[in-house]
Amino acid sequence: MKILVINCGSSSLKYQLIDSDSEQVLAKGICERIKIDGVLNHTASGKDKINVEAPMPDHNAAVKLVIDALLDSEHGVIQSLDEIDAVGHRVVHGGEKFAASVIVNDEVLKAIEECNDLAPLHNPANLIGIEACRTLMPDIPNVVVFDTAFHQTMPKEAYIYGLPYSYYEKYKIRRYGFHGTSHSFVSAKTIELLDKPKEDTKVIVCHLGGGASICAVQGGRSIDTSMGMTPLEGIVMGTRSGSIDPAIIEYIAKKENKSIDEIMNILNKESGVMGISGRSSDFRDIDEGIRNGEERSKIAFSVFCYQAAKIIGGYVAAMNGVDAISFTAGIGENDSAVRAAVCERLTYLGITLDKEANKKRGELTQISTADSKVKVFVVPTNEELAIARETLAFIGNQ
Ligand code: AMP
Repeated sequence: MKILVINCGSSSLKYQLIDSDSEQVLAKGICERIKIDGVLNHTASGKDKINVEAPMPDHNAAVKLVIDALLDSEHGVIQSLDEIDAVGHRVVHGGEKFAASVIVNDEVLKAIEECNDLAPLHNPANLIGIEACRTLMPDIPNVVVFDTAFHQTMPKEAYIYGLPYSYYEKYKIRRYGFHGTSHSFVSAKTIELLDKPKEDTKVIVCHLGGGASICAVQGGRSIDTSMGMTPLEGIVMGTRSGSIDPAIIEYIAKKENKSIDEIMNILNKESGVMGISGRSSDFRDIDEGIRNGEERSKIAFSVFCYQAAKIIGGYVAAMNGVDAISFTAGIGENDSAVRAAVCERLTYLGITLDKEANKKRGELTQISTADSKVKVFVVPTNEELAIARETLAFIGNQ
C-alpha cells in the first residue's frame, strides 16, 4: 500500500509518499512560502531533486503541485492517484477529545476545529491541509494522527495544574504534552530492545530537537511529559524559554512596557538557547561557540543539559525506576556532547556511557556499556513513518 503523509504548517507543507510494505520513502518534499510566492522542493527515490517555483496562493494550490509532482512522468513515482491508499495527516492538538488517530469526516473536522484555541498557530493550518486533500482527492480516505494523543494516558496528578479547578472544567486548561508520535515510536523501539515484558518496562524518551520534550513511558503508556498545555512548557529549547516563573511575565511587562502578545513572542521566539547564548538556536553553533571559548554558549549548553537531567530524575521518581533512556531528534541523535553531559549527571542510577559508541550519530545504537544498570540508546525518530503506520493500521481496521 502507498500512504501519503502530510504535515501542514501555516506557510509550508511537508509530505512523504511511503510504501507501507517496504517502509521505504518513495518521494518526499516540502512546499514553502505558501501564500507568499511558492517553492516546491521534491525528491523521488533514485531520481534527481527538483525545485519548482510556482504560485501557491493557498494550500489547495500546494497540494495540487504535490500531486502533479508525484504523477510527473519524469520526477514522479505513481501513474494514477488510485495508487494512493490513504493520506495520514499530522495534527498538533487533539485536546481531550482524541486519545487515538481517527478517520476524517465532517464531525471529526468540527471537533478538531474546537481545539483550535489550544493551538492557534498549528491546528488551523493542519485543518486547511486536510480540507485541500479532501477536495483534490475525494475518493482517498484521510486519517489524522495527533501530537497529543499518546499522552492522553497521563494520570490526573500529571496533567492538572495548580490553578482553580474551574479553569480546567470551563476551558480545558491542563497539561496535554506534544511530540506524541515521536515518543510513541521511540519508546516502542526502545521496549523492543529490552529483555522484559512490555507491561513491566520503564522508559524515558528525550526528544531533543528545535522543540524539546521528555516523556516517561511506563508499560508502553505515557505517564508524564515535559510539555504542557502548549509546547512552551518544559525544558529550555532552541528559541523557547521552557518553564519559567509565571510572575516574570508581569515583571517584564512593567519593566519593558510590553504587551502580553509581545512577551509571548519573546518567550517563543527569542528565548531558550538562542536567548541565553545570543549566538544561535542551533546546537552546532553552540558547540562551535564553546570551542571558541564563548561564555554564553557554555551557559546555554549547561542550562539545557542540566534541565534535561533534572526532568529525567523526576521521571525516575514518577516511575519508581527506569530500565532505559533513549535520545532522539536533531540534538538527541547527533550531539554526543549533550548526551554525555546529561548522562554524567545520572551516574547515581548506575549509568555508564560507552564513549566510543556515543560518538556515533543518527543511527540506532546502545551508548551505555554492557554493565550499565540502565541502558541508554540513541533511537532515530521517524514521525512520518509512525504516521504512515498509524494510518495503515486504521485503514486496515476499516
Ligand atoms: P529537529 O527539530 O529534530 O529537526 O532538530 C533540529 C536541531 O537539531 C537543530 O536546531 C540543531 O540544534 C540540532 N542538530 C542537528 N544536527 C546536529 C548536529 N550534527 N550536531 C548538533 N546538533 C544538531
